[in-house]
Amino acid sequence: MNRLRLWLRVLVTLVVIVAAVWLVWHGRDLAPQRPVVPPSTATEARDAAGTSSVVPSVQRPVRAPSAATAGPAAAASGIGTPPRALPEPGPGVKSPAAPQTSLVMEPARPFDSAFIRLGPLEVASLPEAVRFDYPMGSQNAALTYNAQPFRITRHLGDDLNGIGGENSDLGDAVFAAGTGRVVYAGVPGAGWGNMIILAHRVQEAGAPGGFAVYQTLYAHLEKSLVRPDQLVTRGEQIGTVGTAGGQYFAHLHFEVRAGPYVNPGVGYADTPLNRLSPEKFIDEHRGAPVDQLNQAPHP
Ligand SMILES: [Zn+2]
Repeated sequence: MNRLRLWLRVLVTLVVIVAAVWLVWHGRDLAPQRPVVPPSTATEARDAAGTSSVVPSVQRPVRAPSAATAGPAAAASGIGTPPRALPEPGPGVKSPAAPQTSLVMEPARPFDSAFIRLGPLEVASLPEAVRFDYPMGSQNAALTYNAQPFRITRHLGDDLNGIGGENSDLGDAVFAAGTGRVVYAGVPGAGWGNMIILAHRVQEAGAPGGFAVYQTLYAHLEKSLVRPDQLVTRGEQIGTVGTAGGQYFAHLHFEVRAGPYVNPGVGYADTPLNRLSPEKFIDEHRGAPVDQLNQAPHP
């Protein structure tokens, strides 16, 4: 009898031990999983978990890297908002961050950090431009016409076009309107195509130090022949007339801007911003009347 009781006790003890071990191993799975999600995002995590069968886990990429590099403008547009919490992937899966980078599309940045305000030293080191000419040759040479003058519609520049129309001027030379320094050479956006911006120091009564900064801008170029920081002289070829990658009939979008801020900005606006009429500016800075001819050489 004692022996039977002893066996029963051993059996009960074994059952208790096995039950305890099972509970220890599987008890975690039975417990509620709320603590793995921060309280503030618990609701969203549950929402995501509820639809996880149709929503791939990579649908909500972590955008922190782009928020860090895209700057305040991106943040203002909502690009930099924190990602929603991902559903907890379950035990054994390390981190949801791994597959997310490949699908992140970097937003188009508003403009490159290369766009700057020229400092006093940079302004002082700009070559002085004492005279400006038209960038595709004089109007009197009858090679070009102004297809869309400044402020016709909301246009912020002149569209200089070959007199043959359409693509007749494709590849024609574009010249620096004045002596200056290249402060931008690149493609700031699809609508602009290849763009060059030159900065010029121009003597002007009433300006601080007697000099003002003006910029000339050349866009839609087929070829750009200069690099940033390069010095160019008036009449030097800096590029060729293009179509901005086939978007327009070939023409030169030409702007003149006042001030030291270098930024591609926009080609159309309700107000002129810091843009000046290129025709008027060049007429005022040619150093000679437009119709003045060179003197005949002495015999
Ligand atoms: Zn234009």
